[in-house]
Amino acid sequence: MVVAIDGPAGSGKGTITKIISQRMGLVNLDTGATYRCVALASLRAELTLKDEEKIVDLIDSLDIELEHQNGEIKVILNGEDVSKEIRTAEVTGIVSQISSIVPVRLKMVELQRKLAKGKDVIMEGRDIGTYVFPNAEVKIYLDADVSERARRRYKENQEKGIKCTYEEVLDNILKRDENDKHKEIGSLKVADGATILDSTNMTIDEVADEVEKIIKKAI
Ligand code: C5P
Repeated sequence: MVVAIDGPAGSGKGTITKIISQRMGLVNLDTGATYRCVALASLRAELTLKDEEKIVDLIDSLDIELEHQNGEIKVILNGEDVSKEIRTAEVTGIVSQISSIVPVRLKMVELQRKLAKGKDVIMEGRDIGTYVFPNAEVKIYLDADVSERARRRYKENQEKGIKCTYEEVLDNILKRDENDKHKEIGSLKVADGATILDSTNMTIDEVADEVEKIIKKAI
């Protein structure tokens, strides 16, 4: 079974996916993390967005794994735990453009489908219900006002010790939203048959309860 949770940056996908995966025993797959690994590896290899072909070639040398430990996802890149490094401002600043490169998407989608194979999963991303698993049993589009999303991400960054200002977070979210909505393939949009949930004025628990209800109804 696939539960697809799509939506823009900061809409609460990660938090909700984590809660639901624990409540309902589903494997939590963060597809954004796979693109973030490519972005991190590109930065480390000193490649810029102009080096598209080299970025695509680089992917063949990457082994990306998502490990689950005590309800947390550990992102392992070539044997190294990069869970923190993939959330830095540098990675966040280029990941949307990296993920717009079509061959990068094709390779990551192949990996994401492989990671989900034979499992009951809850996958969060931008294109899960539209492209990665268009036949997903449950499709949810999680949204919220942009200022609320920026506020949440800013707070989260502060808690994680990631240095940034609110304005930087808002600016990054606006840019990523714009870029994510205009991708050649896998652009951010509401999937056919998806339930839209606007979490602007909802607590985390309220959103999680609603998502659980939607999943239970569908299965
Ligand atoms: O979800 P997260 O913010 O970690 O995703 C990072 C970036 O990866 C997004 O801004 C988006 O450009 C890209 N992404 C994507 N398709 C997905 C998940 C993430 O293009 N399924």
